[in-house]
Amino acid sequence: MMETLEQLLQDEIRDIYDAEKQLVKALPKMAKAASSTELSDALREHLEQTQGQVQRLEQVFEALGAKAKGKPCVGMKGLIEEGQEIIGADSSDELKDLAIIGAAQRVEHYEIAAYGTARTFAEQLGKQDIVDLLQETLDEEKEADEKLTDISQTLLEGVGGSEESDEETTGAGMGRSSGRTSANTRQTAPKTKRSSGM
Ligand code: FE
Ligand code: ZN
Ligand code: FE
Repeated sequence: MMETLEQLLQDEIRDIYDAEKQLVKALPKMAKAASSTELSDALREHLEQTQGQVQRLEQVFEALGAKAKGKPCVGMKGLIEEGQEIIGADSSDELKDLAIIGAAQRVEHYEIAAYGTARTFAEQLGKQDIVDLLQETLDEEKEADEKLTDISQTLLEGVGGSEESDEETTGAGMGRSSGRTSANTRQTAPKTKRSSGM
């Protein structure tokens, strides 16, 4: 029974604690499946960060005066399952790497949402020590997400795209080009223009 915001915060922390522990197991597999050394290095680096994040959560439990104990995070389980499907899929190295990045960014966004929520609860409760711990991890997750977007941009340069994509930055990853429509939906020019090259 959830009666106080502090209990809700503790519940959120237990969920994230389990999520991070699941990730500690999953990230090595994703790193191993990546062909790009830049990508596998980034995933291994994030594994080390993730281990530090688990310890930070143990400090949060301590600050809450609670035992460090996870509660099965079903969301992370699903995201990791999707990642495993991608690893097992039959595709080219480049496309698989791009799909791994997509799966990893889903994970980062899930974590960003979870840490943002927990941090805001801690703020409301005036627990500045916990706010600082959660904010530190939140910043790491955001950085990891941006790094993945950068790697995806690099990989996309090697993959190419449609004939008119040469001067476009593609919309993969987050943020930067979110205001644009994709090359696929933007095409409103008369059809004759496109088919003339056939
Ligand atoms: Fe994390
Ligand atoms: Zn969860
Ligand atoms: Fe993360």
